[in-house]
Amino acid sequence: MLRTADVLRRTGGHNVKSIVFDEAAIAARVEELGREITAAYPDGDLLVLGLLKGSFIFLGDLVRKVERPLQVDFLVASSYGAGTTSSGRVDLLYDPATRLEGKHIVLVEDIVDTGNTLRRLLGTLTARAPASLSICALLDKVAMHAPMPEVRFVGFEAPTAFLVGYGLDHAEDFRHLPFIADLM
Ligand code: 5GP
Repeated sequence: MLRTADVLRRTGGHNVKSIVFDEAAIAARVEELGREITAAYPDGDLLVLGLLKGSFIFLGDLVRKVERPLQVDFLVASSYGAGTTSSGRVDLLYDPATRLEGKHIVLVEDIVDTGNTLRRLLGTLTARAPASLSICALLDKVAMHAPMPEVRFVGFEAPTAFLVGYGLDHAEDFRHLPFIADLM
């Protein structure tokens, strides 16, 4: 467990309220998720699509625990309110160069809160005719949204606090923390 001085050195003096998931707990769960994904896709082409920026550390750790062939690409969705069409599709600021058609897609998200981000993306990605489309979320604030069957792989159920670290930011700070914490 990290001492307070270690936390403060990493955060530049900004203390966190508590460490919600520590490095060891995250590593153990990510390894299990890797096994779940390996077992879930016995055949076919697998494309792991990371939703930037929040998923970058999680995705990097996760794909190294998946023991089958796969491809990796990323996407960047436009922010809330902008770029959503009446069909529920969303503009992509970075559109994956990799073809989605006929592939099993695992969309990797840092945290599901209301689920709106994912709902907007699902229409856009489904239109590209993947063989299947599932979501892998590191954290899921289950109390904040109706059940979402597409969210097939979940790291941890998260409290309804504002969490940072392991890719998650507050105004671009704290993404590099090796643990997940809630802010003061
Ligand atoms: P949703 O669209 O599900 O309401 O929100 C998902 C997005 O909101 C996440 O990808 C993340 O960018 C942001 N978000 C939601 N909850 C948190 C949180 O607790 N901490 C951080 N850092 N971002 C969050």
